[in-house]
Amino acid sequence: MTASQRIMDETEQYVLHTYNRFPVVFERGEGVHLYDVEGKEYLDFGAGIAVFALGYGNPAYSEALKDQIDKVIHTSNLFYHKPLAEASRKVIEHTHLSKVFFTNSGAEAIEGAIKAARKYAYSKDGSNDHEIIAMKHSFHGRTIGALSVTGNAHYQDPFRPLMGGVRFADFNDFESVKGAVTEKTCAILLETVQGEGGIYPADPAFLRSVRKLCDERDILLILDEIQCGMGRTGSWFACDAYDVKPDIMTLAKALGCGIPVGAFVLNEKAAEQSLAPGDHGTTYGGNPLACAAVSAVFDLFDQNGIVGQVAQTAPYLEAKLDELVSKYSFLTKRRGMGFMQGIVVEGKPVGEIVKAALAEGLVILSAGSNVLRFVPPLVMEKKDIDEMAMKLDSVLSRQ
Ligand SMILES: *Cc1c(COP(=O)(O)O)cnc(C)c1O
Repeated sequence: MTASQRIMDETEQYVLHTYNRFPVVFERGEGVHLYDVEGKEYLDFGAGIAVFALGYGNPAYSEALKDQIDKVIHTSNLFYHKPLAEASRKVIEHTHLSKVFFTNSGAEAIEGAIKAARKYAYSKDGSNDHEIIAMKHSFHGRTIGALSVTGNAHYQDPFRPLMGGVRFADFNDFESVKGAVTEKTCAILLETVQGEGGIYPADPAFLRSVRKLCDERDILLILDEIQCGMGRTGSWFACDAYDVKPDIMTLAKALGCGIPVGAFVLNEKAAEQSLAPGDHGTTYGGNPLACAAVSAVFDLFDQNGIVGQVAQTAPYLEAKLDELVSKYSFLTKRRGMGFMQGIVVEGKPVGEIVKAALAEGLVILSAGSNVLRFVPPLVMEKKDIDEMAMKLDSVLSRQ
């Protein structure tokens, strides 16, 4: 029996079966490549689901974490610590918002944003039947609150009753959003670029109209930038390219580049009139190790000009993907922004293509029911994109 098989068998024996995992056992990473326990090399266009933006084995990132581990890993939020002060300053400097609350995951960032929006409305009128408008085909996480605003029956149905007070509207359809607004609406929540739903960027006119509607009705705009934020689309946050500012933004995934950390970030109005002492908390959230990771990520992104590099290299990725779309009739469309791209597949199972790519030494992901998803580490260079396109071409030619 191979080493891989033993590890896979042991995992399946003890871990709750909520994932149908691909039969690969990764052991280590270097730059934009991953290696399995048999030593096989994989070019990584998945980045652990849009998480590991810096490339594997970045020495400065590893050193920052090791330094913090040697000092103190956890203190609780009953006390102050320097990594929290530094990480929060960097989040605010880059988002141009006002206050941040660190969580352990993306779903928890959504939970916090929902609570902040409800408290904001409660502070204004004292009533407690406020509503949130969320989008169909959205994804915001698996906890009950985050699931309640995730517009996907497959994820929701087995777990009803969910949190009440949620209305769903059609993404990129302003009339649908406007039609869902009532006196009770406290927030409109959307992903600037829908990720899990199939890589759908918001239309600029749609997003600007939603912003205007929120301003007119004193409704909070919550932008979920958990997947599309942190440089992925070629600007620090996807909404920057639209010139639209949210009242609350959620972050996670690349925020800690692998150390579990998320955040919800509020503008001054939302921060001052929502959560106060006693309203929200977390034991681990924003602990010294997580904050050291966030701090290092912002520093390394800035020092290496990573966001600008994504903007510069992304047209090359788009062109290479477009070549494949025009070559194969079962690839019907490419959409996306920056290093967050999707290709629509018609008449062939996407999972089989992902599996065949793995066998070829290429990690790609799927999204929605029929989309190939490309969310590489942000340090991906042209030569790596060439290698990806060559491998994928060879896989596609055999479908
Ligand atoms: C991944 C994701 C989440 C959930 O994050 P977790 O860390 O898995 O809880 C929420 N929103 C978006 C847009 C995501 O991509």
